[in-house]
Amino acid sequence: MRLYALSILCCFVSIGLFAVTALDFSSYRLGKNNRYLFEAIVKDLSLEFGREVTTAYGKGLQAIADRIVIEESQMDDFLKQTTDPKEREALARFIIAHEYFHVALKHTHTDEWGKSPPEIEIRGTFKEARKQMEKQVDYLAAKYLQTLKLPTTPVQTMFLEHPEFHGGEYYPTAEERVEVVVSAIEKGIDRAVFDHKAIKCTFLLGLLSTKLP
Ligand SMILES: [Zn+2]
Repeated sequence: MRLYALSILCCFVSIGLFAVTALDFSSYRLGKNNRYLFEAIVKDLSLEFGREVTTAYGKGLQAIADRIVIEESQMDDFLKQTTDPKEREALARFIIAHEYFHVALKHTHTDEWGKSPPEIEIRGTFKEARKQMEKQVDYLAAKYLQTLKLPTTPVQTMFLEHPEFHGGEYYPTAEERVEVVVSAIEKGIDRAVFDHKAIKCTFLLGLLSTKLP
């Protein structure tokens, strides 16, 4: 407990109000084990936003219940769009933060058969709510990058250049996702993103938002 308190203090002293590990993505190697970088990002998010998550490595980049699953080959696929270490860091932090916020906002505890925790109000169809959930976590992950002074342009490029971001029944289109990322750069939190006609989760947002610009 004491060590934990000290480590937080240390971060506060060194970087101000935000707990963040200095990461050097020039050491990222395509096709190799980069888990120490991913684990540091997950740890930073857990420390900052207070929601503990576990990490697993397997198929698909996704959040299941309270766990973030990282598919390393898919991460490579996204990060190889640039060799710039800061841009790679921005992409990795965005992708992991996206999944982290799915857990923190309890999106992972909803389903299309009507399951939903008491803190979340599903107002539209599940498909509509699901699309908005994606926008909510993209929005928060972009804000997170902004707080760390990392660029969001690589994220916009990733959405536009990867065919898996083409949209569909449950997902916003790549263009809509870019729009959300751009809008997140504005000051403050736009509550309309979280108090939306398809889903409301402002209570859970409130537990996180004091840490975001
Ligand atoms: Zn998602």
